[in-house]
Amino acid sequence: MQVKRGIAASPGVGIGPALVFGAGSFHVPRQYTTHDAIDTEVARFRVALENVCQELVENERLVTERIGSQCGAIFDAHLQIARDPKLIGEIEEGIRKHAYSPEFSTSSVLRGFARKLKELGNPVLAERAADIYDLEKSLLRHLLGEEREELSQLSSKVVVLASDLSPSETAGLSREFVYGFATEGGGPTSHTAILAGALEIPAVVGIGSFLKDLSGGEMVIIDGDHGEVILNPTEDCLAEYRRNAERSQSAARILLTSATKPSVTQDGVPVPVYGNIEFPGEVAHCLQREADGIGLYRTEFLYLGRKSERTEEDHYKAYKQVLDAYPESPVVIRTLDLGADKVPVSLREYYAREANPELGLRSIRVSLADQDRFKTQLRAILRAADLGDVRVMFPLISSLSELRQAKSLLKDVGEDLAEKGIPYRANLPVGMMVEVPAAALMAEEFAQEVDFFSIGTNDLIQYTLAADRSNPAVAKYYNSADPAVLRIIRLVLQASKPRSIPVTVCGQMCSDPKFVPLLVGLGVRQLSVTPQVIPQIKAIVRSLTIETAEQIAKRAFEFDLARDVESYLKSELKRLCPEME
Ligand code: PEP
Ligand code: MG
Repeated sequence: MQVKRGIAASPGVGIGPALVFGAGSFHVPRQYTTHDAIDTEVARFRVALENVCQELVENERLVTERIGSQCGAIFDAHLQIARDPKLIGEIEEGIRKHAYSPEFSTSSVLRGFARKLKELGNPVLAERAADIYDLEKSLLRHLLGEEREELSQLSSKVVVLASDLSPSETAGLSREFVYGFATEGGGPTSHTAILAGALEIPAVVGIGSFLKDLSGGEMVIIDGDHGEVILNPTEDCLAEYRRNAERSQSAARILLTSATKPSVTQDGVPVPVYGNIEFPGEVAHCLQREADGIGLYRTEFLYLGRKSERTEEDHYKAYKQVLDAYPESPVVIRTLDLGADKVPVSLREYYAREANPELGLRSIRVSLADQDRFKTQLRAILRAADLGDVRVMFPLISSLSELRQAKSLLKDVGEDLAEKGIPYRANLPVGMMVEVPAAALMAEEFAQEVDFFSIGTNDLIQYTLAADRSNPAVAKYYNSADPAVLRIIRLVLQASKPRSIPVTVCGQMCSDPKFVPLLVGLGVRQLSVTPQVIPQIKAIVRSLTIETAEQIAKRAFEFDLARDVESYLKSELKRLCPEME
């Protein structure tokens, strides 16, 4: 038995026989064509290219139907590369000028391009090189006529192990036949990871080289909760995972039936549980699990894989889709949180030069630096607010002047809509994310200028503890249970009290069951979590009284080490909800 550690990309556990996809790359030797065959070879290349483009269009349609247009747009990005006149021109030039075979010219041009992207030293751009390799693979498959077993046409249940899965391959995976997947490459922000989450297939990425000794058929466990892959598990290990999987499946079924019950503590205090979404299509997951609304809509994912800007209508349509599902419940639309690890194609060149993007031009700073884009989004939000209980939220606010600028642009946009007689809602609640220590320290002042706070623990932790949230090398320094994290959250809740500003927590911390009693005990009365855990989080709320939660919070502050806080919170969760262990 071997245990491989990687990055947990999509939660859940999958157990089954391995289907191994090696590098899958075609090794194309330098081949030449004869001069009188050049025209025929160029024509052959063009046919292959056209077939690939048709496949991409078809994939876009399929994925848009299954998951939504934001995911479908990934293929639009591929299509734009496939139709890039410069790249295509270079490949054709290789055939015409050097008499290279179409296969060799394709491979050398695309690999050269991918290599240049990787050499820029920016992990986000390096991940995009995967798109180029994907295109190379598709083109060579058509040119060489080589059949790679279609992952989308599996007929038996497997665990997929691959050097890398392209977004198109991932999107083709069926939940019916794929228990889970693991890849050698990939990062937590890759399109592949995002798609795995949206499809709810357990996945681990970024394991590093581990496939070379595997032939397929061996038993594998994918533990998407802990980022582990277990190869050839012992009977005992397998039995334990199966028992756990059965337990958690039946617990999930029971929880789902109880999800209709209101999220209220035993002493009658409501603590609504909202869903966090990236794509409008995910409202279906939230509805199924009885989310009380949408507490965080990460609108920057509208830009996923897009080369071109989004129009006001694009924004409006996406927001309307969410509001059609939740016409009467709160829907918190967060303005674009672009930058750092979420870079649209149009800004890639800029970010390639940023030495420290997490501390650079990101989030609200990007919106304030490009006010046309920001105003386009604000107009769509104000118009959509006319359709339901929309609340607008600004991310990564670090100073009052930033907040005031954002609010003043919102006001300008509203006045403009009013002047033009376009329906919109003027008095929608305006909130801010508290995810920078500066905002937490100034929370009392901010509380006088916003209608609500939402604590973004993902960023608040990385900035408080100086530990990059997506770097596995510093993962041990990134700890939600750190006493400093607890104290900074308490600070925000205390500052919100004089003006009774509602405080939500929408970072991953509150999707982790053990932190729920602590957060409620500190005074948090709204939680926004990943859709999969909604029933579980609601059940924890129902197991609590405010007094118990407050006692747990008080005791948690007595520990000065993260590991003691963590084990204390685990033991309390076990006491409150024994079935969740
Ligand atoms: C956060 O930082 O906690 C948050 C919810 O925002 P994101 O994860 O999108 O940065
Ligand atoms: Mg954040």
